[in-house]
Amino acid sequence: MNEMQYQVDLMNAMNEKLKNDQKMMKMIIETSTSAFVYYNYERDETRVMGEWENYFDFSIRRISDIQRTVDYVDETYRDEFLNCINAERLGLERCVATARLTDSRKWIECECSVIYDQDHRPLDKVLRFKDVTVVNDKNEELKYMAYYDGMTGLYNRNYFISLLTGFIDKARENNREVAVMFVDIDDFRSINDGMGLVVGDELMMSFGQYLSDLSTDNCIVSHFTGDMYCIAVYDPCGQTDIEYIYDRIRQRTRQPFMLSDRRELYIKVTAGVALYPDASENVLELINYAEIVMLRAKHDGKDSIQYFDSILLSEFLQNLNIENKLRDAIYDMNFEMYYQPQFETESGQLRGVEALIRWKDPEEGMISPAQFIPLAEKNGTIVPIGQWVIEDSIRTYMQWRKDYDRSFILSINISAIQYKREDFVEKLIAIIEKYDMNPRELELEITETALIDNYRDVSEKLKLLRDYGIRISMDDFGTGYSSLSQLKSLPIDTLKIDKSFMDTVLEDDNTNVIMESIMGMVKKLGLETVAEGVETEEQLEYLKNIQCDNVQGYLTGRPCPVSDLKEILKD
Ligand code: C2E
Ligand code: CA
Ligand code: CA
Repeated sequence: MNEMQYQVDLMNAMNEKLKNDQKMMKMIIETSTSAFVYYNYERDETRVMGEWENYFDFSIRRISDIQRTVDYVDETYRDEFLNCINAERLGLERCVATARLTDSRKWIECECSVIYDQDHRPLDKVLRFKDVTVVNDKNEELKYMAYYDGMTGLYNRNYFISLLTGFIDKARENNREVAVMFVDIDDFRSINDGMGLVVGDELMMSFGQYLSDLSTDNCIVSHFTGDMYCIAVYDPCGQTDIEYIYDRIRQRTRQPFMLSDRRELYIKVTAGVALYPDASENVLELINYAEIVMLRAKHDGKDSIQYFDSILLSEFLQNLNIENKLRDAIYDMNFEMYYQPQFETESGQLRGVEALIRWKDPEEGMISPAQFIPLAEKNGTIVPIGQWVIEDSIRTYMQWRKDYDRSFILSINISAIQYKREDFVEKLIAIIEKYDMNPRELELEITETALIDNYRDVSEKLKLLRDYGIRISMDDFGTGYSSLSQLKSLPIDTLKIDKSFMDTVLEDDNTNVIMESIMGMVKKLGLETVAEGVETEEQLEYLKNIQCDNVQGYLTGRPCPVSDLKEILKD
């Protein structure tokens, strides 16, 4: 083969390859839904390929026409888009931008590739426009779900945290405050339980919608879960003052929320506030503290606002600590019963003993029931604790009966939660029978709170217990709501007059008058009386004069462990 023939063959082969390449390119472009614009700098040649008409309704003759595409793009995306189509101005080899088109819901992606020579002068440029609506809508939806709460359209917790972080960074730089306010609908659970979840949801939404009106650049509003909302305010003052915002919310709640079935619903809200940097400099801690304060405000009486302070925090942390330890204490039953004697005022004879629980903590020593009983009631652990109290004190009492051969009254404190348990009566009677105790020697103390929200159920149980022979005593009388006339309808035997009367009765004439009328009424009702917290001889003398039947207090005997009670029981 000569040289010439070889050159011709080679050229033919190359042409063939070029033709095939072109064919392949054409096919690729034709099957694609994208639009392509090719530009060669040297020849100043512009070519448009693919589905250009699908994207833009103008045609391109020169490369400068490409700038018109920007007019089709939604304003928010314009800068980025412009940079992309002019990638060579920034010296980029490849650049991608996504944008929404103004007149349609379409999302397009623009990809620009530029080839440069050795001196970094552009040689060729390809622009590709691609429809990414489906993908992008999905992404937007995911983004929405990631940032917003679907039910209220407010920011969700996670996004709120990231925005709040921004506020705090800014405040740190500018030496400003940030307020975090936790807002919670009062009694939302009873709305949910009483009117149904649908109503609850509706309320949650319309309240959320109202709150969203409060949001500004310096005020972000979010919905955490259920009826809990959290608001953050950068540099609170004037119109964005927390008190002012809370007032606005409160004003709104003075008007009803309209439900879809045209029913009207009134709500009240409670708020807790923690300030950066006073309460904490940490985002999560601030939110946490605001919630704690809100819970505290609820506890103290709803429909109010409270601010974080350090005493509140230490109280809270201590309670938290106690609550945690309480679980261990129950596991090991680290409790001990103390007994405080009650004496007949006139004769000085032992009337009975009140069983009072003590918690022996290995680290902190004795923890007062006044401190842990309310927590145990809150978390439900009062049920096993109370069961243990009943069994332990009945066992002790039966031992005394055997050892000293005498009978008196064993008085046990029973919490409202215990009375409300369905199996309370049954379990109590089982223990009495197990130890073969005479039920007439047992007295159960009850406070008015046990009766408040469950009057019928609890008073029925009291009747059952009394029919069985057990005595019922109304504890802390005078501190609660029940009036003397109400006592008539209650199945009780004994009235324990609260210590607060003793504290003032000798100095205060009003207390004196009340005390005397209580005694008169009680006699008529045939109730027995026990005065609590008797500390002085004068008080004892006074009680004798008004014919109060029994006394209990530090004067006649402090609560003490079993071992110390021997002397009293022997006499
Ligand atoms: P409470 O039932 O009113 O018990 C009387 C409280 O007054 C006892 O406090 C007693 O130690 C105290 N006390 C008695 N005499 C005097 C006095 O002269 N002066 C003063 N300053 N205080 C006196 P304690 O033992 O700390 O119990 C506090 C509360 O804890 C009780 O108040 C009761 O509500 C509750 N509690 C105690 N033990 C039990 C229990 O086993 N079960 C339940 N559910 N509650 C209990
Ligand atoms: Ca008591
Ligand atoms: Ca009491």
